[in-house]
Amino acid sequence: MRTQVPQYLQEVLQACERNDEGALADYIPELGNVDPNPLAVAVCMGDGTVYGAGDADVEFTIQSMSKPFVYALALHERGLEATLQQVGVEPSGDAFNDLSLREDGRPQNPMINAGAMAVHAMIGGPQAPLRERTDMIVDGLSRFAGRQLSVDEEVYASEFATAFRNRAIANLLRNVGIIEQDPRDIVGEYTRQCATTVTTNDLATMAVTLAMGGRNPVTGEQVVPAWVCRYVLSVMMTCGMYDAAGDWMTTVGIPAKSGVSGGILGALPGQAGLAAFSPKVDSHGHSVRGVRVFEHLSRDLNLHLMEVQEARVRLLESSREVKLRDGLARHLRLRGALYFGSVERLLRELADIPDEDTVVVDLSDVTHINPIGRRMLLDAMEQLGGTGERRLVLV
Ligand code: GLU
Repeated sequence: MRTQVPQYLQEVLQACERNDEGALADYIPELGNVDPNPLAVAVCMGDGTVYGAGDADVEFTIQSMSKPFVYALALHERGLEATLQQVGVEPSGDAFNDLSLREDGRPQNPMINAGAMAVHAMIGGPQAPLRERTDMIVDGLSRFAGRQLSVDEEVYASEFATAFRNRAIANLLRNVGIIEQDPRDIVGEYTRQCATTVTTNDLATMAVTLAMGGRNPVTGEQVVPAWVCRYVLSVMMTCGMYDAAGDWMTTVGIPAKSGVSGGILGALPGQAGLAAFSPKVDSHGHSVRGVRVFEHLSRDLNLHLMEVQEARVRLLESSREVKLRDGLARHLRLRGALYFGSVERLLRELADIPDEDTVVVDLSDVTHINPIGRRMLLDAMEQLGGTGERRLVLV
């Protein structure tokens, strides 16, 4: 049996693909030349299961979506105190390329370009050779993605040749002593960081690694410690969507980061990593269709972080045989809350059970079922009940 998630993701894309608003981010000349049409979505569950739909194979540059991960690497490598000395954690409400610094000279937060360049410059310490620092960063991004990523040299060269505004920001950072290196070099290597290429599957995997406390569920590697993720997710929630952060918080409610290449990633603590991609962006630099995709996911799957949920606890407590009047049945005992993340796992568990078996799904220890959990469970009952020999009994 296939779980319902892939089909649902297709439906979301169908609902969003008619939207033709926005424009390519042609302030980076190479991005002005890309095909504006691709549309993709990916979801990576907490156990590493990845669902993708649409143009999942299209590679694009990570741009500002690299920022939370490089911030995570800096927090891990340099520690909290040293990192906070270089960059704040206050939402600026300004655009990503804002030219101002706080009164104490620090950039407002690591999600705007000023903060991201300051964070880039910290990796490996101020003396690290430039390219080595970028290699360390690309290597770190790769560990979040679970595969070796590489840099698109054409996008890099095209952005660097026209990065006059970022150079102004880096000059300011050098002037106040936040960076010690040559500002032009830092802009160059930060631009290279932004030109690392990814797919939506990569982004969803990177996001779920943050969502699961720093452990990449696909590779099993603990990339950064859990405390780092708490910091990074908080900063994503308050600052990740720049001057649209309030709108995003109220309508979508998922810690997220966008990039001007048209990607958006979201990390839902303890549940899933989400990613959407379509190149046309709005005036904030967020993918127009990508925002729509996230609005759908949040609403349909009850993913808004401020949604009141009962404690999310263990799903499958025991699996033993029980006697029914007409034979033996498997006994699946559910404990805790049924919501998107836990029912999705239950459906996969059910899919692994041979078709001819009878299954008793025991809900007596379920404390809470949210609307999407209920619907997924009832749909599964209907689908499974109608096929083959298998019987599902809810008790
Ligand atoms: N490399 C881009 C810049 O610095 C990233 C901006 C973004 O993706 O929001 O302008």
